[in-house]
Amino acid sequence: MELLFERSREGRGQTILPQCDVPEYEFDSALLREKAPRLPEISEIDLGRHYTELAGETHGVNNGFYPLGSCTMKYNPRINEELSALNGFTGLHPLQPQCTAQGALQVIYETQKMICEITGMDDMTMQPAAGAHGEYTGLLLIRNYHKERGELQKRTKIIVPDSAHGTNPASAVMAGFKVVSVPSNEFGGVDLEALKAAVGDDTAGLMLTNPNTLGLFDPNILEITKIIHDAGGLCYYDGANLNAVMGHARPGDMGFDCVHVNLHKTFSTPHGGGGPGAGPVGCKAFLKDYLPSPQVKKDENGYSLFVPEKTMGKVRDFYGNFLVVVRAYAYILTLGKEGIPEASANAVLNANYMMNKLKGSYTIAYDTQCMHEFVMDIGPLKSETGISAMDVAKRLLDCGIHPPTMYFPLIVHEALMIEPTETESKETLDKACEFFLNIYKEAKENPEVLHSAPNNCTIGRPDDVLAARNPVLKYSFE
Ligand SMILES: *Cc1c(COP(=O)(O)O)cnc(C)c1O
Repeated sequence: MELLFERSREGRGQTILPQCDVPEYEFDSALLREKAPRLPEISEIDLGRHYTELAGETHGVNNGFYPLGSCTMKYNPRINEELSALNGFTGLHPLQPQCTAQGALQVIYETQKMICEITGMDDMTMQPAAGAHGEYTGLLLIRNYHKERGELQKRTKIIVPDSAHGTNPASAVMAGFKVVSVPSNEFGGVDLEALKAAVGDDTAGLMLTNPNTLGLFDPNILEITKIIHDAGGLCYYDGANLNAVMGHARPGDMGFDCVHVNLHKTFSTPHGGGGPGAGPVGCKAFLKDYLPSPQVKKDENGYSLFVPEKTMGKVRDFYGNFLVVVRAYAYILTLGKEGIPEASANAVLNANYMMNKLKGSYTIAYDTQCMHEFVMDIGPLKSETGISAMDVAKRLLDCGIHPPTMYFPLIVHEALMIEPTETESKETLDKACEFFLNIYKEAKENPEVLHSAPNNCTIGRPDDVLAARNPVLKYSFE
């Protein structure tokens, strides 16, 4: 398909401005460009067609099923979009007087309170822009805690299970810690003996997601957090999988000291295109004075901003991605106390329903009841037929399904990680299972068609390695 620059014709689409009826202003010539900017010139209708064509080549939750494990690609109700687009929110300036932005401050304050309630935390910052950014912020809380106690010199290590999301070790390193990986046990949980052997005087903390990236809830969670606390470390909860437990179990009750939540996964912000999102960080009271600044408080004069006593400073400009917070606020209020646990119950039900329909054929990596997602191991199918997780994923594109997360978690080599989410109907799940089972049959009977899939996408099998190592991000005008 042609790019805008290739569609551009000199002089096209420039007649939308009225005749100038005010005196022309002479700019200082030193401030002027030498040449006009190289912008595409195109008529409105061609521009519209260009973007419509582009939109037709992407797959979003409005196109079809999107079981991208660990990403919680659920449907985000339109009402939350509409509320976040209200002029009163979009027209705000972050520097306007606080007394004129009381509604916005109230939204931040009350959303924090509600997510603190859901996660079992005492306080929260809305500044971080994503989950990984929240991890970094949470680790700075842990860092400041040890620093104030004079223990930072010796507490240099963060323990991370081998099933963790890649952002966990990356954030730990960015926050100045060394990473110690602990293996999973045969049930997919943390190996307690290995954990006990890994902790010590040098333990700053643990990062863990529960349910983990295998979609399994770790039944030893209280013992795990106790082992860390007994060693003098703190426990960080990666809340990216909160969609599985919200309203049922709280990280704060599992023994965690701080947590991030991905508003764009769990609380209704579309995120297929990569952002903006938000990764608010909650903490127990003993960490709240280190939170980023400013924080919102409420007293008899209304809502106002303040600087926490020993704040780490800012992790992002102003108040973070505020409109994402508005969506979360609207989402939580519409679901309410009954709807929040019902949503996660349905997410878990849908995942188990699919897993049980597929497990007669496909191999389930850890074959037990799952939470909101499950991991299939294509390894056995591959040894038998030569069909890999990649081939299955590519064939799903022909079926109008966004492929599941692949080759993650790393401990399952041919992993396909499926997260249907709560917003899919039984009919959609049945149809998707039918496609999956057909592909399984094709693998056995006609593997060739899988090697060449997808057959009806503009781009079929790009060279992933080349794209990652040598990305071409810029249009070359030569
Ligand atoms: C998505 C995810 C993250 C990172 O969140 P981002 O918002 O993408 O930065 C961390 N951990 C897990 C388990 C995740 O699924």
